[in-house]
Amino acid sequence: MIFDGKNRVTQPYGSGHGGIDIVGDNSRNVHAVSAGTVDLVQFWDGKTKVGSQSYGNLVRIKSGNTYFYYAHLDKICTVKGQVVKAGDIIGTMGSTGNSTGPHTHFEVRKGGKTCGCRVNPAPFCGVQNKKGTYIAKTSTESNAEAVCKPSAENYTAGTKVALNGADLFVSSSAKKAAKKISGNYYIYDSNVINGRLRITNSADKVGKKPIGKYVTGWVDVKDV
Ligand SMILES: [Zn+2]
Repeated sequence: MIFDGKNRVTQPYGSGHGGIDIVGDNSRNVHAVSAGTVDLVQFWDGKTKVGSQSYGNLVRIKSGNTYFYYAHLDKICTVKGQVVKAGDIIGTMGSTGNSTGPHTHFEVRKGGKTCGCRVNPAPFCGVQNKKGTYIAKTSTESNAEAVCKPSAENYTAGTKVALNGADLFVSSSAKKAAKKISGNYYIYDSNVINGRLRITNSADKVGKKPIGKYVTGWVDVKDV
């Protein structure tokens, strides 16, 4: 379920509403309901309430040909390209975009992100498509609000990061770490691939070509 504890449906899917609105009464932490890859992170501009900005702070997760939208978030706890498991905290409940009170607008599109093929999202998130309170049976966390680190906003080239025993990989897809590293490093560029970022060991190497000469390696964004 999206929230630990009580999941209160305040507006069902249908009748011109493309998703389901859910309030977390016990916890504001928003959990992914299925595994996938974050293929879009959108930040609200703080004023626009139409178009894609109506979704406010948005995380979209792609799972095969199905897209899951978690909208109106307060904090965003993922970055584009991050691989998530069901249950991972991806953000916190908010009221950004076209929203009048804190809730998560959860939407599911099958067949493509622009096909307009929305489906009833209720079966994906453990609630019924009608107003009411539904309880997540397994409680896995305290109700403390997630500390969103890393935040997508931090992934800018040149940002200094203090690593502490982080796995260093030779590529974005390497299965095993080459070694563990600690100390100060710098984000080489902001491209997150397979949930990893390139880092370099000196500020004056940031963004320099050829990449192979100046990049130390890849680290998981969760370690940055
Ligand atoms: Zn909604």
